[in-house]
Amino acid sequence: MAESNVAQVFPDGTTDYKPLRKAGYDLKKPHITETPITWGNWYKHVNWLNTYFILGVPAMGLIGAYFTPLYTATALFAVFYYFNTGLGITAGYHRLWSHTSYKATLPLKIYLAAMGAGAVEGSIRWWSRGHRSHHRYTDTEKDPYSVRKGLLYSHIGWMVMKQNPKRIGRTDITDLNDDPVVVWQHTHYIKSVLAMGLIFPTLVCGLGWGDYLGGFIYAGILRIFFVQQATFCVNSLAHWLGDQPFDDRNSPRDHVITALVTLGEGYHNFHHEFPSDYRNAIQWWQYDPTKWMIWTWKQLGLAHDLKQFRSNEIEKGRVQQLQKKLDQKRAGLDWGIPLEQLPVVDWDDFVAQSKNGKGLVAIAGVIHDVTDFIKDHPGGKALISSAIGKDATAMFNGGVYLHSNAAHNLLSTMRVGVLRGGCEVEIWKRAQSENKDVAVVNDSTGQRIWRAGDQVTRIAQPVAAADAA
Ligand SMILES: [Zn+2]
Ligand SMILES: [Zn+2]
Repeated sequence: MAESNVAQVFPDGTTDYKPLRKAGYDLKKPHITETPITWGNWYKHVNWLNTYFILGVPAMGLIGAYFTPLYTATALFAVFYYFNTGLGITAGYHRLWSHTSYKATLPLKIYLAAMGAGAVEGSIRWWSRGHRSHHRYTDTEKDPYSVRKGLLYSHIGWMVMKQNPKRIGRTDITDLNDDPVVVWQHTHYIKSVLAMGLIFPTLVCGLGWGDYLGGFIYAGILRIFFVQQATFCVNSLAHWLGDQPFDDRNSPRDHVITALVTLGEGYHNFHHEFPSDYRNAIQWWQYDPTKWMIWTWKQLGLAHDLKQFRSNEIEKGRVQQLQKKLDQKRAGLDWGIPLEQLPVVDWDDFVAQSKNGKGLVAIAGVIHDVTDFIKDHPGGKALISSAIGKDATAMFNGGVYLHSNAAHNLLSTMRVGVLRGGCEVEIWKRAQSENKDVAVVNDSTGQRIWRAGDQVTRIAQPVAAADAA
């Protein structure tokens, strides 16, 4: 179809993108993912090639393992090779090529490209393009492995089931197309996978200690399975398990278990906030062997320009997230009716109501109804009763007893009105309505923050005890 080579207009405004399609590709025919799964067509929805490599081959490996003895040397090499191929993905595919968080010399690039091929997770070019989409469109329809579609989907579902190529968000990979190592590995991908995934470990174990079969089964097939499952956890577990110390608006999370499984990629909330930082864990005691290796390569002169966000920027994010949590906690507490919503009461009305049996007390111009609290007053019934119908500002603030911060907080939940012309509150209220400068700090929900010792009923200058005499 001539159409397939014509530039298309995309919803994001891009017009210069020409998709590479097979000659017989019919644009008008709906993609299989646009048809609902039924008993009659489910097999058309499955990506059989991926299913074979992700699930079929490991199943054969397990059967093979049943008949193959495991030698210590082979087991040790399998673990060693597991870490190396894992690093190919974490330090290579992920931190070097997807995020350019450091620069690598040619020998290091070749090592990472070879090891990454041995992990059998697609070419650098394919993997990094998907990963950049994942960062750009996290949790949305354009995210290739959005955890919003379920944990299993984000783990392997997105590879086992066919994907509509139009759905995945596009990103810029011109830098990767300019990297000869990336281009070479992409064009020779199948050869690279066979060589590094299976032939190399088989030869090491075979030529090293005569265990060709064990090398093939354990250091080859089963090791591939474990590396794949471990690194897939970055897409699933790291978006599902743990804390969100930097931002909780998206799904990425920090957890030590994910870090242990993924060679340090488990501090994923940090990573999504600061993706071009070569570190995922920022504390020295957190498990991030990928970071340790990159740092070591730097010391050996193999890597340079390690990118790192300033701790000032990192701490800002952490404080903002803490503030958000704090505001949510604050919003759940009773701080009393906001002053500006209280009715203004005349002094005579206040006295009259108090005489009619209401336990009203005026403190700093605010009227409080303490009727139900009299029997619970820690200082006894007599003292609090003596304040009813009076201005108890001085008594409350040291005249009789210098009440605690907690007492001021509790008092604020009993407020029912403000006195006309009473103390500072009236002045504050008037200034508020006239929009004058009043130092009021509000939280993100617009509620006034009352800091300890800062309550309206608190009088800054302690009142002389003589008042009470
Ligand atoms: Zn992620
Ligand atoms: Zn990433």
